[in-house]
Amino acid sequence: MKKLLVVSCVCDDKFAPISLYLMNNHLSDVVAGVNTKAKELDAEIMYLLPEGSQVDGMEGYVRYVDASSPTLNNPYAVVQVLSGNLPRPMIQDDFVAEYDNKEVVVITPEEAYAIQCGSEDKFVAVTADGETEIKKVSAGTSVAEIADVDGAKAILVGGSKGKFILPQDGENTKVEATESFNSIVVYKTSDCMVDACVQLMNQAYEASCGKCVLCREGTSQFKQIVTEMTTGKAKATDIDLIKEVSEIITVGAYCPFGQNMTKPLTSAMELFADEFADHIKKKTCKCGKCYKAATLYFIDPDECQGCGDCIDACPEEAIEGKDGFIHIIDQDLCEQCGKCVAACDEGCIKSATKLPKLPRKRTKVGKF
Ligand code: SF4
Ligand code: SF4
Ligand code: SF4
Repeated sequence: MKKLLVVSCVCDDKFAPISLYLMNNHLSDVVAGVNTKAKELDAEIMYLLPEGSQVDGMEGYVRYVDASSPTLNNPYAVVQVLSGNLPRPMIQDDFVAEYDNKEVVVITPEEAYAIQCGSEDKFVAVTADGETEIKKVSAGTSVAEIADVDGAKAILVGGSKGKFILPQDGENTKVEATESFNSIVVYKTSDCMVDACVQLMNQAYEASCGKCVLCREGTSQFKQIVTEMTTGKAKATDIDLIKEVSEIITVGAYCPFGQNMTKPLTSAMELFADEFADHIKKKTCKCGKCYKAATLYFIDPDECQGCGDCIDACPEEAIEGKDGFIHIIDQDLCEQCGKCVAACDEGCIKSATKLPKLPRKRTKVGKF
């Protein structure tokens, strides 16, 4: 069967946009590496680029897809997105992914660059203060040499599949010739690690392709639990629960993304155990990030007209009530989205950091 070599520029980690960087800054080296590989395989070449991207000087067969996923270095996942499906991988030694009657082989721009220029040069995306810069470094260079980690609180090495380290460990964490990391994110002392994990778990949830239950449900549950830590709803047992479930996911998830995506969270919990405990037990955030956001929405019982207009506006089905009765927001279900506020023409849905006295049982309008 003929072969199709797909150059996948859509499998980058959000923290390491290396593929498009190489396509835009080292195109001739990437193309030379791709051509060498294609000749070796006797394959046709397709470049797979994210929708809306542009690479100056790009020639040949290019397909754009409205998808990016850590699974898109897998041939079957690539075939799926080319066919308009979700990027779900197939990992089996004897499995042949076919597209257009050709066997699909995938190469990333990094791999193509290494074929042409050798594997000594590595590209690492460094994010600090919200800015990302991509640096070319040699194997053996340490995190502390690549990024300014003095005075940092923590460093995320390896993005959504990586782990947190402390700045003092930056000297000993080095770029390897193989199986290395390609991103570094520097967190400041004013950054809250629980809040950072909320962002990471949201990204992991978005990145999961949904093929296997462990990763699909795990990312969803972790996202919810860590969010609850920032709003005062988490329980003391949640830390142990996350550790136990993450061990199961690491062993049982189908692809490397799922097997590693819990590491940023578990490493942060280990290094910053006190900070997590403060959020869960004392319900405080020393960085002042989380509990500011803990706005509680409630329906003013003196003003509610019992019309029910707010019920349909709530995506969480958190509003209880009946015509002519004071409506109530179930705080266990409310996600603080604020959508109900606009639905009430009477202006009686309000927010506060502490709830006032509210009806505990069904109460007629005007009887509270
Ligand atoms: S581990 Fe996650 S990303 Fe990988 S196949 Fe399963 S659901 Fe998809
Ligand atoms: S809160 Fe507003 S919209 Fe909801 S029942 Fe009361 S008056 Fe109607
Ligand atoms: S804030 Fe959002 S989730 Fe909470 S009751 Fe209003 S609409 Fe529902």
